[in-house]
Amino acid sequence: MYVILLGLPGAGKGTQAARLTRAIGLAHITTGELFRENIRLGTALGKKARPYVEKGLLVPDEITIDMLLERVSQRDCEAGYILDGFPRNLEQARVLDEALVQQGKAIDRVAYIKVPTEELVRRLAGRWSCPRCGEVYQESNRPPKVAGICDNCGAELYQREDDRPEVVRTRLEVNLAQLEQLLGYYRQTGKLVEVDGEGDVETIGGELTAALSS
Ligand code: AMP
Repeated sequence: MYVILLGLPGAGKGTQAARLTRAIGLAHITTGELFRENIRLGTALGKKARPYVEKGLLVPDEITIDMLLERVSQRDCEAGYILDGFPRNLEQARVLDEALVQQGKAIDRVAYIKVPTEELVRRLAGRWSCPRCGEVYQESNRPPKVAGICDNCGAELYQREDDRPEVVRTRLEVNLAQLEQLLGYYRQTGKLVEVDGEGDVETIGGELTAALSS
């Protein structure tokens, strides 16, 4: 199964993708996390991506697409994957479709997790991430059991640089325009499903699972 999760930063794509991955065992590919990992490790890819990620701008397509295609060619993706953070624009969507067609495959479902912008700004300001396992927490909606510590792996949580309010605004603006185009593109295919992203993680997860199997 090939699934795309669409939504603005903070909509809960990462949290829901992690839940789905545990439930159905597909690979979870998140381009933002791939970039952050490369930046942490100081790789050549990380050095190229860093200035864009820090400012909340999209990393150029040639860098992002190569990284994504390399990642989905790995063995754990053979049975399918959940994409979180990719595609971010029409060019990326088209290249992904072409790559899948060449393998005789296609995207099965695109789920759009819809959350109002004011709610996203609030959520991102209180977001804490785990550098080791990638789990994401939110101060008021989904706090860790022990403040500052990951429930899953015990690592110390951190706040992403690009979750600072001034960068958040740029990220939301950049992503909003592209998101509208992507919604149009996938609506035409009849594969798009919409899920209300306000509410608790379990309820949204239930709706998402139902929408994906519809
Ligand atoms: P995210 O964690 O999805 O919010 O991504 C963090 C940052 O990584 C974004 O603000 C971009 O700089 C970069 N990024 C992630 N995914 C993509 C993508 N598909 N295309 C271009 N840049 C991306």
